[in-house]
This record gives sequence, C-alpha cells and structure tokens, in this order.
Amino acid sequence: MAINTSNSISLPLSGKVAFVTGGSRGIGAAIVRRLARDGSAVAFTYSASRTGAEALAADIEAAGGRALALQVDSSDAAALTAAIDQAATTFGRLDVLVNNAGVALMGELDTFTLEDFDRTLAVNVRAVFVGVQEAARHMGEGGRIVTIGSTNSERMPWAGGAVYAMSKAAIVGLTRGLARDLGPRGITINNVQPGPTATDMNPADGPMAASMHGLMALERHARPEEIAGMVAYLAGPEAGMVTGSSLLIDGGFAA
Ligand code: NDP
Repeated sequence: MAINTSNSISLPLSGKVAFVTGGSRGIGAAIVRRLARDGSAVAFTYSASRTGAEALAADIEAAGGRALALQVDSSDAAALTAAIDQAATTFGRLDVLVNNAGVALMGELDTFTLEDFDRTLAVNVRAVFVGVQEAARHMGEGGRIVTIGSTNSERMPWAGGAVYAMSKAAIVGLTRGLARDLGPRGITINNVQPGPTATDMNPADGPMAASMHGLMALERHARPEEIAGMVAYLAGPEAGMVTGSSLLIDGGFAA
C-alpha cells in the first residue's frame, strides 16, 4: 500500500514524533503506517520480525517519511526505556506513545502455567506502565498516549481466556489512574479496545472466526486500518479533551 508522508503543514501530525510498540505486523503495523501518513516520524519496536520491521521502515522512508525500527522485547524494561530514549534523541522530541505490543496466551485452567501468567502481565501490563513512565519524561503539553486493550476486558465469552482478559481489564484501571497523573502536564492517555481484528493473532478465517462473528452486531473481523483510524484520532489535535477513556471498536462484540 502506498504511503503518502508528505511534510505538508496541513497533515494532523506534521512535525510530531511517535513511538509504537509491536509495529512489525498486524494492528501495530497499520498504526505505524497511519501515523506516518498523518505526518509523524515513527519509531517502532518488534520482538522477532526483523525482516518485516525493516521493510516497513524502508517503505515509509521511500515515501519521504522518517521511521526507525528497534528490536525490543517489551518485557525487558531497561531495553524498552532505552529504545524510547533513543527515539526521542534520534528524532529530537516525543509526542505520541502507542502501547500496542501484546500477547494472547490462552489455556485451560488446569494446565495454564505461571510462566504464561507472568509473560502476559509483563508484556500486556507492566510494559505499558514502563513505557508511559519513560515516554512522559520526554513529552510536553499536547502529548498523547494510546494503549491497545481489548473488548475482552468487558466480555470474555469462552473458557481459556481469563488471564488475557485480566490483563486487558488492568489497562482500563491503569488508563483511568494515569489520566490523573498526566492531566496536569497536558498529556492525554486512552485505551482503544478492539474486537476481533484480522491479524496473525486472530485470522479472519481462523477456527474461532465464525463463533466470534456470531457474537457481534457487525458479523466480521475489523481491518487493522480501522483500529489505526481510532488511534490516529486520539493521537491528533482534535482529541485534546479525551482522556482516561476506554473506547470499544468491536463491531458490537460487547454490546
Ligand atoms: P499480532 O500477534 O498480529 O502482532 C503482534 C505485534 O506485537 C508484532 O509486531 C510483534 O512483534 C509484537 N510483539 C509481540 N510480543 C512482543 C514483545 N514481547 N515485545 C515487543 N513486541 C512484541 O497481534 P495483533 O496485531 O493482533 O495485536 C496487537 C494488539 O492488539 C495486542 O495488544 C492485542 O492484544 C490487541 N488486540 C488484538 C485483537 C485481534 O483480534 N487481533 C483484538 C483485541 C486486541 P514480532 O512481529 O517481532 O513478533
């Protein structure tokens, strides 16, 4: 897909710098592309997909934008903090943080391991706190933070998803509380909660797809670009009064 990253002053994120975790694939990659299209320089992390990450960065740069792909496991707090600092140094500022990287480890109650419990919390929750703490040190008035939660914070209609649902419900409270910390600094923080979205994590033709669609008012997976659109709004100049909110974009999954 062509990316128009013209530096026109009319672009909503012209002159801004964004940092996106987990930007190599899926929803995160769509967010990286969208923020770049809206005029932002974008640093983003990946854990394993070096080829995809570098191709995405090259794509953005070929279109005249600025991008930086960094290999960081979000569960490594020191590495995540260093990457945020590197992005702010490379691009000269930091305006937007998107906490997107996440894992969906599912399993039955009797066999779910504590290693998977800890991994879920480390990537889906602890890394969000670490990222916000460090990014806020670089942000000024007008800073924007968005976390990708899940509709599963409100509705988990199957067995095996309890720990994932817990991790995404934690983001609801974390977002509310952090809004109070960040408000006096003029920084907003919000939680975008997708429903089924067509990615490697949740393919639109996967074995669970039909039963998911049966629970929805709109019986289809979202496209990652649709989630990126809500993130772009929250990251942009029109969303200055939205903070502490958890916003569903789930085709009525939780309706
Ligand atoms: P994918 O599995 O398709 O992609 C995950 C992305 O996160 C990849 O870029 C991956 O990097 C990166 N990532 C995973 N673990 C880590 C880690 N420890 N450190 C750094 N990066 C990491 O997931 P989705 O795009 O579907 O999901 C993105 C977010 O959206 C997640 O938080 C997920 O919980 C949430 N979500 C997804 C839904 C869906 O239906 N798809 C629904 C609701 C919420 P790499 O390529 O290197 O592995």
